[in-house]
Amino acid sequence: MTQLARLRGLQTEAALPAEAAILHVDMDAFFVSVELLERPELRGKPVVVGGRPDARGVVSAASYEARKFGIHSALPLRTAARLCPHAVFLDGDHAKYEQWSDRVAAILAKFSPVVEMASIDEAYLDLAGTQRLHGPPLAAAHKLLSEITRTTHLPCSGGLAATRLVAKVASDQAKPRGLLWVPAGSEERFLAPLPVRKIPGIGEVTERALRALGLETVAQLAALPQEKLEKVFGQWGTALHRKARGGDAYEFVIDAEPKSISQNHTFGEDTGDAQALEGMLSHLSQKACKRLREAGLDARTLTLTIRYAGFETHTRSRTLPAAACLDADIFRVFLELFRANWDRRRKIRLLGVSLSGLEHGAQQLSLLDPERQEKLEKLTRAADRLRDRFGFGSVRFGGSLPRDGS
Ligand SMILES: [Mg+2]
Repeated sequence: MTQLARLRGLQTEAALPAEAAILHVDMDAFFVSVELLERPELRGKPVVVGGRPDARGVVSAASYEARKFGIHSALPLRTAARLCPHAVFLDGDHAKYEQWSDRVAAILAKFSPVVEMASIDEAYLDLAGTQRLHGPPLAAAHKLLSEITRTTHLPCSGGLAATRLVAKVASDQAKPRGLLWVPAGSEERFLAPLPVRKIPGIGEVTERALRALGLETVAQLAALPQEKLEKVFGQWGTALHRKARGGDAYEFVIDAEPKSISQNHTFGEDTGDAQALEGMLSHLSQKACKRLREAGLDARTLTLTIRYAGFETHTRSRTLPAAACLDADIFRVFLELFRANWDRRRKIRLLGVSLSGLEHGAQQLSLLDPERQEKLEKLTRAADRLRDRFGFGSVRFGGSLPRDGS
């Protein structure tokens, strides 16, 4: 990524480049396709890679025939077996997939000096400036995809566009075995009718929040004023506004909705000092909560990690009845988890807190005690402002105050 990022950075500083041309290449149902090379008799059948149908794991790839039954990657294998009992279940062989990925990468390297493997089965290529060698970008893209299919017998798809985001959406729309070109200037028209979830970086959480605002398509998202999006989503709103127009930006740190927010601390020396441990826990909890609020999110699931001397690690989670973002509400739960699960005879090496089950803009006000909630929210936000001005150590709530001024 850095190579491409650097190159594009240079281009904007120097003279405008020849027409930007990013090709996103994505192998179709990659793990399944590799397995089918050795088992051609399974072609046209529902095939699932990931493990036995009664195993505990999840699906890592499904053939297009299996997808018709609602099977997709990350689905529990047992659920997949229920959806399609006659599917063929295969164990995955990651080393084998890596080898095939390397073969594909070697072909990609022939077409551009700038190749970024985004994962084992997808890559971005910069085709601007490869004209003399391979012809116009669309012809080069076509040649490249044909060469992959001819030499590896693995199916793949491609998307060609002026930005990475649009190229990736285009390759997805082209699947399977397709190539889709979105000429510069037609990005918004191309994206407009698609559901918002098709935009890279927009996951389930943002999709749900957008639906609550009445937004289902990219066109509807693009029509919303930037200020409105920023009011609801904070910095993420700026990114959403840009994404809805097909824009890329490397300078943005937040480019996908977070899945979890974690804070860990490894002690310089293993410790069994309850007060020091609980103080650190409060500090970690406050830091994570601040990041949570900055992202405009609430968390539903809290996970505590305790690692003892000797690296034995225990994690304990609790799911709250309602999502929360306030220091006091979240720390209380972490403290309970800690007190209930720490084996006091043992010294601790690392403490960690993690917030997940994230939601946008859930209502914080509890109906039971609105006054207390409001006071706490005010206090929390005032503390956030002070921390922004004076650094994190300047405001701590009781429980994380160090003893003996240390
Ligand atoms: Mg793929």
